[in-house]
Amino acid sequence: MIYIDFHTHQINKEADVKSIYNLPLTEKPADFSEQHLSIGIHPWYINDNNNQFSTIKLNINHPNVKAIGECGLDKLKGPDLAIQTEVFKQHIRWSEEFEKPLIIHCVKAYSEIIKLRKDLKPKQTWIFHGFNSSVETLNQAIKTGFYFSFGPAILNHPKTRKSFINSPINRIFLETDDTDFNIKELYKKAADLKETGIDEFQEKIRDNFNLILKI
Ligand SMILES: [Zn+2]
Repeated sequence: MIYIDFHTHQINKEADVKSIYNLPLTEKPADFSEQHLSIGIHPWYINDNNNQFSTIKLNINHPNVKAIGECGLDKLKGPDLAIQTEVFKQHIRWSEEFEKPLIIHCVKAYSEIIKLRKDLKPKQTWIFHGFNSSVETLNQAIKTGFYFSFGPAILNHPKTRKSFINSPINRIFLETDDTDFNIKELYKKAADLKETGIDEFQEKIRDNFNLILKI
């Protein structure tokens, strides 16, 4: 059975790990055969030249590019929120146009992003990556159709752990993001928190993955 790492900045070549590698804009999709990729502009690194947009347009249609992102809103870091919102909306348009799900970086902007989904009613799936907010926010986002990818914070962050335990299993993923945490270890601990067997847990996550990536 496969371990899916939904969002990572590292390449993992283990045969039983399948990941979505967040492609830096300096790298080319063609250099990563049989590797799922996501492509987007992280809100911290938005710059005011057009190179970022043209690089994305050049690569977005590559068959290995399975998702748009990470992109989103961060109230603690990066340019002005108005600029971040404008760039995020461009990613939303790409996601709809190219029919690829959206991987979202969100810091203290859950209500803004939930409102955007309510207002825009996109067809594509939106996933909060590194979800670390309250059960209340989780429930609002569930109603609006969001998916959630959880990282190692479920192990040491009580609020995040509580949200993970309360999350519906048909809406979740696991991820290592920029940590060196072992994805298999995370699955074991996550399955324990969900009081389910590891095999069943892996199967459910794989079903979620296949569903939203239309595999
Ligand atoms: Zn990331």
